[in-house]
Amino acid sequence: MPIFLKRSDFEKIRDYAVAQLPNEACGLLAGVVREDGAIAIEKAYLLTNVDQTNEHFSIDPREQLKAVLDARKNGLTPLGNWHSHPETPSRPSEEDKRLANDPKAIYAILSLAEEGNPVLNAFRIEGSEGARVATKMDLILTED
Ligand SMILES: [Zn+2]
Repeated sequence: MPIFLKRSDFEKIRDYAVAQLPNEACGLLAGVVREDGAIAIEKAYLLTNVDQTNEHFSIDPREQLKAVLDARKNGLTPLGNWHSHPETPSRPSEEDKRLANDPKAIYAILSLAEEGNPVLNAFRIEGSEGARVATKMDLILTED
């Protein structure tokens, strides 16, 4: 099933992630799951990486709660999170897989490894701890 993201939200994520370099940036994704199973991201939240490193991230828990409440207030469902990889490709690291404990969540990763060519991919990560498999989703940017 495809996942739709507004180009303006993609640009918002990209600009924020670039501004947070050299550290990883992170945030939440909220939207709606349509009747046909397609997912539409309606809002991307830009949140603070309290780890402040280029190797991993932890979303500020208070900001995360605020974002979840804001999403629900706007009739949206929190669907997953995004984070940036300043120097590595747009796929889950071993640590990302280890920490991904929600098989229903979307894990989006923006790679800034190649200058001028940001790459955003979205994944489902399933399986038991130690044997998790990431499946790339069909991410489609929409004009709005
Ligand atoms: Zn990562």
